[in-house]
Order: sequence, then structure tokens, then C-alpha cells
Amino acid sequence: MNAPVLVINCGSSSIKYALIDSTLETPRLAGLAERLGTPQARLKGKNSAGESFIQALPGADHAKALNAILDRLEGRLPVAVGHRIVHGGERFTQAALITGDVLEAIQATAALAPLHNPANLAGIEATQTVFAELPQVAVFDTAFHQTLPPKAYRYALPEAFYTEHGIRRYGFHGTSHAFVSRRAAELSERGEGGWLTAHLGNGCSTAAVWQGKSVDTSMGLTPLEGLVMGTRSGDVDPGLHAHLHRQLGWSLDEIDDVLNKRSGLLGLSGLTNDMREIEEKALEGHAGASLALEVFCYRIAKSLAALSCALPVLDGVIFTGGIGENSPIVRARVLELLPHFGFALDDAANEATIRGGEGAIGKAGHTGPEAWVIPTDEEGRIALETRQCLETFL
Ligand code: ADP
Repeated sequence: MNAPVLVINCGSSSIKYALIDSTLETPRLAGLAERLGTPQARLKGKNSAGESFIQALPGADHAKALNAILDRLEGRLPVAVGHRIVHGGERFTQAALITGDVLEAIQATAALAPLHNPANLAGIEATQTVFAELPQVAVFDTAFHQTLPPKAYRYALPEAFYTEHGIRRYGFHGTSHAFVSRRAAELSERGEGGWLTAHLGNGCSTAAVWQGKSVDTSMGLTPLEGLVMGTRSGDVDPGLHAHLHRQLGWSLDEIDDVLNKRSGLLGLSGLTNDMREIEEKALEGHAGASLALEVFCYRIAKSLAALSCALPVLDGVIFTGGIGENSPIVRARVLELLPHFGFALDDAANEATIRGGEGAIGKAGHTGPEAWVIPTDEEGRIALETRQCLETFL
């Protein structure tokens, strides 16, 4: 099966797409259809020769955009379509061939991801029309974390919250944590073992991976729990919600909005959610940016230290995501905050490993835990899981 897989990630007004062959080679034909449903709708991307294109698609909906993507596939018909689905609840522990039954189950989990799952479902429906003859596979952000033990996934709430309403910790960014931990096992002499992974992009999460299985992670019922993110607060006192409501008269929607969209790096700095700008302004002495950087790094270190309790042995830490792959400052600060773990950072390797670079950033020959930068490839992982699913079910 050498034909490529078309990977699709549908939001409410966008479709990210990538055509990926079995070797996961780059550059790939890939891009983004955005502003769908508006007069400004357009398709952007790069073809497999690395040339960029932008095509106006005024008023296009998901189906029209998918047709435009189909026209761009350079005659390479995919063997299947792999869909990124945010929430798979407890039902999906691995990728699933999309059938009527699977669609119903994804619908049933929409209550747990009201912003994401309905958009993902709309994307599947449109894709089934445009690519009617191709098998479709759902790959879930939550699936990799379904190996968490109850002590890691249960909240200390009355049992019925869990048994009747599915309220538990699920974790997200599963394809990324799975990809980088597997890659570290290939690259490092330690192999599969105990790895801490830090996916630091606009959304941020950490995971503890023991012998290839996720055993704990920082995100929970929703992708709001855990680390400080671009605009998301991460952990706050659960009493905050009642406080804001009682003392300031805020509605639930207002509280949800501030914690998801106006907090994190943006809220702390008062400037931006973009880490590049935070670093620049912090260097210039901007107090808000300096504080945002400090809190961001401290919370990552604290989370990694906490998650280390889930690992019998700590073999190393892996940084990934836009910040993890490109910010030597964040990586150095996080490791400095964990002196008792015995990391030994190689400053030159840390500075040099940016813009897609992959490699160890710890000192060679060091016997303590290793430190790695591994660029994530969520689309590649989705393509791989799609192929594996086809081999199992078709
Ligand atoms: P998403 O989670 O939306 O996929 P990314 O993984 O692309 O996002 O990460 C976006 C973040 O990466 C932004 O905060 C951006 O500022 C940061 N980033 C990108 N390049 C750099 C860089 N050179 N230095 C520091 N941060 C960077």
C-alpha cells in the first residue's frame, strides 16, 4: 500500500490537509482552507515541489473546499482519508474505520468537546460526499491516553460524576505525545523506557510515557487543564469560578471565555500570546513579558516533576511543538528548574536545535536523564494510524 493517505483536520471554518506517502517523506503537498462560509474563503498550500499557492474560493463551504483540494492532488489518488478527531471519550482507544456506528459514537462524545467534535463530524460528512469511494478513518487526540490508570484519570469527585457523566481526565495532543515518544525510543540508546514529553505550541501539555504507553498527562476533561498556554490559563483554583460569579457577577460563558481566550501568556503579559514576541519583550525588560515567561517555564517544570511520579525510571525529557522545537530559552529555563533530576544541558546543542532540527540537547556520555528536541509530526502519525487501521479492518 504505497498510495498516499489524505489527512484532514476540520474546524468550524477551516480544513487543514496533507497528502502523506508511506515513508512520511517531506516536503508534502499540504495546506489550509480557511474562512470557509465567508466571501474571503480561500485555499492555501504548497505542492510536493515546495511551491506555494493561494486560490480564492468565495463563499465556499467544506465540500467546495474539499473539491478544490481534490483538484490539487496532482493526480495522486489517496488510498484513504484520515481524520483528526479531538475527543473519542472512553470508547476509542485507537483509530477506527468510520461506519455509521462510529459516527454515532463521535456524536455522543460531542458533549465533552462541544467546540471541536461537531466541526470534525461536519468535515467527515463533507469528505464522505467528495471522496465517496475512499475508506475514512478517525484518529483521536484522546486515544493514546486511554492507557492512563484510574489513579491518574479520576478526579476526586462523587463517583456518579464519572459513571453517569463521563467526567474524568482524558488528555489531548495524543498523536503528538505518541509520535515523539516513539521517535525518542528509536533515536536514543535507552529505547522505550520512561519519557516525559512536553508539547508546547499554542496549546501545551505534558505526558509521562512508560514503555510506549501514556501513564499520565497534564490535560484533563477538556484541553484547559494543566500548563499555561497561549491564551488558556491552565490550572487555576477550582474555587475561582464560584468566586468570579459571586463577587463579580460573571456568567459561566464569561468565565469560560476569559479562561480560554484571554489568559495564559496573553493574560499574564498584557501583550501577546506569541512566544517569539514574549521573549523579545522580556529581553527588553518588559515586566509583563518577563513574568509570563517565568510562570510559563515554572509551570512546565512543575508539571514534569509531578508526572515523573508516574514513571518507575526517568530516561529523559522531550520538547516539541512550536515553542518546544524553537525556543532554546524555554528549554534551558525548564531544565534549570529541575536541578535535582540531574539533566546536563549542552548549551551549544540547545542553541543550534531549532527550525525543524532533531536531536539530543544533553551532554554526550551523560549518565543522568537525557534531553531531546523532536519535531512533532501529528499529520504523519495520523497517516500511519490510518494505514494500520486499514490493514486491520480491510
Ligand atoms: P499550534 O499549537 O497552533 O499548532 P505551534 O505548535 O505552531 O502552534 O506553536 C505556536 C507557538 O510557537 C507560538 O507561541 C509561537 O510564538 C511559538 N514559536 C514559533 N517559533 C518560535 C521561535 N523561534 N521562538 C519561540 N517561539 C516560537
